[in-house]
Amino acid sequence: MTSLATRLSGPADTTIFERMSGLAREFGAINLGQGFPELPEPPELIAAAQAALAEHSNQYPPMRGLPRLRGAVADYYARTQGLELTADNVVITSGGTEALAASLFALVAPGDEVVLVQPLYDAYLPLVQWAGGVAKVISLTPPEWTLPIDALAAAIGPKTRGIVLNTPNNPVGTMLTRVELEAVGALAEAHDLWVLCDEVWEAMVFDGTPHISPLAIPSLAARAIKVGSAGKIFSMTGWKVGWAVAAPELAAKIAGRHQFLTFTTPPALQWAAAEGLALPDAWFDAQRALYGGLKARLVLGLEGAGFAVLPGSATWFITIDLAASGLSATDAVLAERLVREAGVASIPVSAFYAQAPETGYLRLCFTKNETVLDEAVARLAKFRAQRD
Ligand code: PMP
Repeated sequence: MTSLATRLSGPADTTIFERMSGLAREFGAINLGQGFPELPEPPELIAAAQAALAEHSNQYPPMRGLPRLRGAVADYYARTQGLELTADNVVITSGGTEALAASLFALVAPGDEVVLVQPLYDAYLPLVQWAGGVAKVISLTPPEWTLPIDALAAAIGPKTRGIVLNTPNNPVGTMLTRVELEAVGALAEAHDLWVLCDEVWEAMVFDGTPHISPLAIPSLAARAIKVGSAGKIFSMTGWKVGWAVAAPELAAKIAGRHQFLTFTTPPALQWAAAEGLALPDAWFDAQRALYGGLKARLVLGLEGAGFAVLPGSATWFITIDLAASGLSATDAVLAERLVREAGVASIPVSAFYAQAPETGYLRLCFTKNETVLDEAVARLAKFRAQRD
């Protein structure tokens, strides 16, 4: 008989994010590892949540989410991405994470093969495995991180049921193009696959690249699930209000899983998220300008200190190319040294790889105030100068 401990042990017991944050605390380092803002939080959203706590019921809201928020999500995507949706397409979940879990538990049956694309966000692999699925992992091609369609086609076999995509990509900040998504659509149609697309970073695009959801691609509209997150859109990662958006029959299946994962999501935060999504475009533009300014500051500072920063359109992260920066160690080794010796925590991009984990890239989060970013640059510059 297998021991209980063996049966309980599984993948991803402690994430790299927790580990690096722990080291940052231990060594008093600036934490550019885990992705969360240390900036003033949007007062409009805080006020809306406070008012909702006082004015609305705090009992179980409807299982699929407040109709008001489901409608607001549909309207927001009509306005920002030209998608034609109604509340029937939307299931509100406790964060994007739960939307991913509910979707995979709805879609994956034991033995199903699912194609994952690395670098990959750490939740995908354990969720596929917990659903009984078998992951087939392919890799984006650095340094542009393009999607290799040939490798994707080759990974699809008779047992393949779906593909998990992430655009904009965490960790590397690049975005799938319409051409790439159309190629995915052709494969999905030919092999009758679903496509789960994690789009939680869709509002954090700084260079004007249009965000394209698989839901906007005709061949994918009926077979794609889009995952979004209010925590990311409003820069409050603790809020854990997210959603899955899909064709009504698919959305109903996902709601069936959400029912037994968390059942509902705190109603006050749902009311507030609904108000937030209806804020004028100027509010979202100002958020982007704020975060884009911080990104530019970190990139310029690092480039000035001799680091090679890879181009990226979106997310709260930038990626350093270590070899091109004159640093020869692998990313995992360098991340450990930087937190201990330079006092800056980062995340090695290899942590986002299920296979072939040695890479030469580090991820840094820029959502900190300017003083913190400048101090981090000074520390990194000193570390690099000592190695020259
Ligand atoms: N997907 C990606 C790619 C993410 O980066 C994150 C958060 N870091 C999530 C999902 C989880 O989103 P949430 O906090 O809304 O659960």
